[in-house]
Amino acid sequence: MQRAPFPSLVVTANELSAQGAFAEAQAAYLNPDPDTVADLRARLERARAGVVAHFYMGAELQGTLYACDWPHIHVSDSLAMADRAIAMAEAGMQNLIVLGVDFMSENVRAMVDAAGRRDVGVYRVSREPIGCSLAESAESRAYGAYLRKAAATPRSLHVVYINTSLWTKAHAHNLVPTITCTSSNVVQTVLQAFAQEPELHLWFGPDTYMGANLAALFEGLTELDEAAIRALHPAHDRRSIAALRGRFDYFKQGNCVVHHMFGDDVTARVRDEYQDARVTAHLEVPGEMFRLALAAQREGRGVIGSTSDILHYITGQVAAAARDASGPRRLKFILGTESGMVTAIVRAVRQVLRDSEAQGARGDIEAEIVFPVASEAIATTRDAELPIVPGVAGGEGCSTAGGCATCPYMKMNSLDATLDVLDGLRVGDASALVSYEPRKYTETLAGRSVAALGSEPILHMRGFQRTGALPGALIDDVRTRVA
Ligand code: SF4
Repeated sequence: MQRAPFPSLVVTANELSAQGAFAEAQAAYLNPDPDTVADLRARLERARAGVVAHFYMGAELQGTLYACDWPHIHVSDSLAMADRAIAMAEAGMQNLIVLGVDFMSENVRAMVDAAGRRDVGVYRVSREPIGCSLAESAESRAYGAYLRKAAATPRSLHVVYINTSLWTKAHAHNLVPTITCTSSNVVQTVLQAFAQEPELHLWFGPDTYMGANLAALFEGLTELDEAAIRALHPAHDRRSIAALRGRFDYFKQGNCVVHHMFGDDVTARVRDEYQDARVTAHLEVPGEMFRLALAAQREGRGVIGSTSDILHYITGQVAAAARDASGPRRLKFILGTESGMVTAIVRAVRQVLRDSEAQGARGDIEAEIVFPVASEAIATTRDAELPIVPGVAGGEGCSTAGGCATCPYMKMNSLDATLDVLDGLRVGDASALVSYEPRKYTETLAGRSVAALGSEPILHMRGFQRTGALPGALIDDVRTRVA
């Protein structure tokens, strides 16, 4: 039986056309109600509040944020969210709204505190805990056993994905010297760690697919020539990469329910039915999709990396096509990550096309964004105007056994809840907002508060981001901690 093509959105400088119900629902939210946008702006201004949001927010929420001209709104990957939150506090914001999952609001709280701004309020927008399948896997007994194995091995460094709670980071760092990473900096973190301490044993977790993909990436590096390896990291060559492969270990039981969807079936369809498409994929996808995107990247028609890498790749390709007078008109991209990314992509692609046109380049380029999602990823509503919405209602069906590419946890953030929190700030009743604050972690571990100990791996990462080297105190800890 012939299956329907994956849904897609075609983006031009001034128009959007949707193919398939999922894409239609995405498109419907990209032109938000002007009154709602004005209301949001007024409430943000009154509350002196800034917003940092993750790329995976729903289309309704992101569409409204992008349309709002309040200068203290930022949508990005998790790495940039904390940086921008600190900048907003420095720019005079008294309150910060974090639209993401709980480890993101905890991260923002910890970094704003570390910047000396405990006076600034940080709020989530759900009364309920906003979990994450990946973060939960790092709180399992299996992860505890993994860390104890690391702690029993001399010269161990634990590289923990930022998508974990402050509790996980604190308990891990108490056992093994730990640094956080994101999908944007994980490859450089690992390479730099081995450059500074070649005798290292590196333990990565909790994302199993990302760990396996990193192992495959390092294996693939040994096949590159020396110049290509040095371009990636100047301290490495084939010999050092071959040596680190034996001392890179990853946790085998943790995954993200969203990226898990990009398995055999989706990969086979992309390979067989979308040979004309450029392939993008997040580092968290399963190995089959990773290999497809890596091969595409090596042929110059794809990218594998973080959400920011995917966004930059797509806009770069569109800008290059606009400069190529004889090139094709339509570029097709497979979106190998959470479908919420499309809001940022549409906005950025349109900006590129408008800028290109203004500079006399081609204005007729069309970017087709394909969502490789299963048809079950569409929910029906009772709303006559919007009878279907992207993803599944309330998160049901979106599990390792389900079939959607939208994160049910991220979708717990809503515009209504955001407006409610802003209302609460105006009334000034702090007790009414307690359930919206990030978890505080006042308990102690090894004589230090869990919040302070859990912040240390994040501060090590920020040190690496700033200087290009892992902090000396962390490397000393790796060399001297007794196994
Ligand atoms: S997409 Fe959702 S489940 Fe996956 S890592 Fe992010 S928050 Fe967790």
